Amino acid sequence: MEILERIDYLKNEINKSNYEYYVNENPYLTDFEYDKLFAELKELEDKYPMFKTPDSPTQRVGSVSERFFPHTHKYRLYSLDNSYNSDDLGKWYERVCKEYDKELELVCELKIDGLAIALTYENGVFVRGVTRGDGITGEDITQNLKTIKAIPLKLFEPKNLEVRGEIYMPKSSFEKLNQLALERGEKVFANPRNAASGSLRQLDSTITAKRDLSMFTYTGIFEDDADKNIKTHYDAMMYLKKLGFKVNENVRKVKNIQGVIDYCKEWETKRFELNYATDGVVIKVNDFSIQKDLGFTARAPKWATAFKFPPEEVKTKLLDIELNTGKTGVVTPVAVLEPVALAGSTVSRASLHNFDEIKRLDVRVGDTVLIMKAAEIIPKVIKVVETDYHKNLPVYVPPTKCPSCGSELVEKEGIVGLYCPNPNCESLMCAKIEYWASKEAMDIDKVGPSIIQQLYEKNMISNFADLYKLLPQDFMMLDLIQEKSASNIYMSIQNSKTRPLNRLITALGIRHVGKETADILSEEFTSIDAFKNATIDQLSQVEGIGEIIAKSVYEYFHDTANLKIIDELISLGINPSQKSAKQSNKLEGKVFVLTGTLPSMGRDEASAIIKSHGGKTSSSVSKKTDFVLAGENAGSKLDKAQNLGVIILTENDFLEMIK
Ligand code: NAD
Repeated sequence: MEILERIDYLKNEINKSNYEYYVNENPYLTDFEYDKLFAELKELEDKYPMFKTPDSPTQRVGSVSERFFPHTHKYRLYSLDNSYNSDDLGKWYERVCKEYDKELELVCELKIDGLAIALTYENGVFVRGVTRGDGITGEDITQNLKTIKAIPLKLFEPKNLEVRGEIYMPKSSFEKLNQLALERGEKVFANPRNAASGSLRQLDSTITAKRDLSMFTYTGIFEDDADKNIKTHYDAMMYLKKLGFKVNENVRKVKNIQGVIDYCKEWETKRFELNYATDGVVIKVNDFSIQKDLGFTARAPKWATAFKFPPEEVKTKLLDIELNTGKTGVVTPVAVLEPVALAGSTVSRASLHNFDEIKRLDVRVGDTVLIMKAAEIIPKVIKVVETDYHKNLPVYVPPTKCPSCGSELVEKEGIVGLYCPNPNCESLMCAKIEYWASKEAMDIDKVGPSIIQQLYEKNMISNFADLYKLLPQDFMMLDLIQEKSASNIYMSIQNSKTRPLNRLITALGIRHVGKETADILSEEFTSIDAFKNATIDQLSQVEGIGEIIAKSVYEYFHDTANLKIIDELISLGINPSQKSAKQSNKLEGKVFVLTGTLPSMGRDEASAIIKSHGGKTSSSVSKKTDFVLAGENAGSKLDKAQNLGVIILTENDFLEMIK
C-alpha cells in the first residue's frame, strides 16, 4: 500500500539522518529538509493512526552514541515541536488556552543552536553532566563539561537541582577554529553546532578545554522544598541566574501570542548581530501549574513549542566559476550566483573552497545549487540540487593557466589545489599587499584593494615594503585622491610601522601561518632575527606547531627574495620584537600533564604559568612526562602516572616549585 510505503520510507530516511546528525556529527540533509520529512511523517501518522508504531522517530528523541559511558537520566529530556509560521503558532496557542478559557502568559527565549545537556548539582556542587541522547539515556561527559567556564562547579548556594541548557560555540571562535584547521589542512566543521558537539564529545578533555565553549541555561528542576515555591518559568530563570548560571539576556515575558509574533519578527533579523547561532524562538507557558497540567507527548512538552527561523540556506543558479590567484599563489574557484537573499543580505558569490571540492560535489556551471551561511561572512556552496538538466551540463574542468599572468599552473606538495609559480604574478602580488594592509595583519586604515591595484599598475609599488617609501604627494596621482586624503593615507601607512611582531608575522602571508599560528610562534620567537635563526626542529617543538607549519616557516625565512623584502622592512624602521612573557627558566625542558580540577586556577592559566617558566604541557602521560599536576576528580591520567612512577604534584606543590 502506497501510504504505508511512504511512511516506511520517511521513517528510514529520518532514522538514517538522525544517526548521521547526532552520532557522526555529519548530517547529509539540511535541517529544513529534515524538518519537512519529519512534518510529513507526523501528518501521515495523525491521519492514519493505525500506522503509528512506538519505534517511529516521531515518538522518540535524538540518538545515543557509544563513545562515552551511558547514564540514565533521573528526569527525562524531551525535544520540542516546531513550526515555521505564525499560523501554526496561533493554532498551538489556541490549543493550550482552550482548557483555561483565558489568555496565558508566555515566555519567549532564543533557541540556541547547540547541544542539550543535563547537569546535576548536589549541595551546590556540580557532580555530573550528561548529553540528552535519546532523552532516557545520555552520555556522561562530566570531565569535558568541567572545562567550560560558564558551568559553575560550585553554586552560590548549596542547592540540589538538575539544570538543562545548551552548550554552544561563539561564532567568532567557530571561525577561528575553522581558520586554524584550514591553515593546518585539517577538516573544517560545517557550522557552530557541529563544532560545539565535536569539541564536547572528545575523549581527551584537554582538547575540549582548548575550545571556546559556553552554555546558556534554560530550565531547572528543583529538588529542595524551599525552591518548590517558585511558581513560574520566568522566576525560575531569574533564580538560576542568582545561583550562578548563565541565562540568556533576551528572555522575555509576553502577555499573549501577539507578543510572541512580535518577538519572532524582531529576532528574525536581529539574530545576525549575535555572536552565537540561534535557529529559532522557544515559547513556553510561564505558569508551572499549567505546564504540569498540560504535560507531554511521547516526544515533546505540550506547554512549549519552537518557532524556527527560515533556513539560512537557499537554492540559486550557478552562473559561473570565477578564478582568483591569492596571496600564496593558490588559485581558488569562486561561485558566481544569481543574486538571492540569504541571512539578511543579498548574495551573489559563494566559496567553493578548491577544485577537489568542485569534483566532490560535481558542481557544473548552470546547476542549481544550495548555498548556506553558517557563521562565516562568505556563504558556501553545500550541494548541487538534483535536476534533470544537471547530467547534460559539461563537467567542470579545472584551469591549467593562471587567470592573472597566464603561467602554467602546478601542483605543490602539501597544498590542495593548483598554484601559480610566478612570484611576480600581478594578482598574487596585489593579494599579498592587500593582506599585509588588512585589519587582521598590519591594519592600515584607508589602504584597500582599489588603492593597491592603482599603485601597482602605476609601478609605484611592487611589494608591501614599497608602501613605506611613498610620500603624501604620490597618493595624489591616484583617482579621486585630494591633498587631505593623500596625507591621511600616508599617515596610516607610517603609523603601521609600530605594529607588534605577531601582526607582522601574520602579514607576511607565510603559507599555513594565519593569525592564530603567528600568535603562537611570536610567543616563542620574539624578534625577526629569532625567526631567521630558527631551525625546523625548534619550530616544531612549539606546542600546536606541526612539521608542515615548521617547514613552511623555515622555508620562508630561507628564501632570498623574502629575505630581501624583510631586510628592506628593517631598513625602513619596521623591526618589532615581542615582549617575552617568560618569567624564569625554572621549568626549562620539563613536560607537564594536567588532570582534574585544580582548586584555584583553570587549566589554561596553569598551562600559561608552566610556559612562562620555560616548561611544556602535553595532553597524555608517557615516559617523557616529568610531572602530572593533578586536581580534584583526576581520571585515568593519574592512574597511568602512578603506574609509570611519574611525580604527581598538587597545586600547592606546583606553586612552591615556581615560587
Ligand atoms: P530541536 O533542536 O528542534 O529542539 C529541541 C532542543 O532545543 C532542546 O533539546 C534543546 O536542546 C534546544 N534548545 C535551545 N534553546 C532552548 C531553549 N531556550 N529552551 C529549550 N530548549 C532549547 O530538537 P532536537 O530534537 O534537538 O533536534 C531536532 C532538530 O534537529 C530537527 O528539527 C532538525 O532541525 C535537526 N536535525 C537535523 C538533521 C539533519 O540531518 N539535518 C537530523 C536530525 C535532526
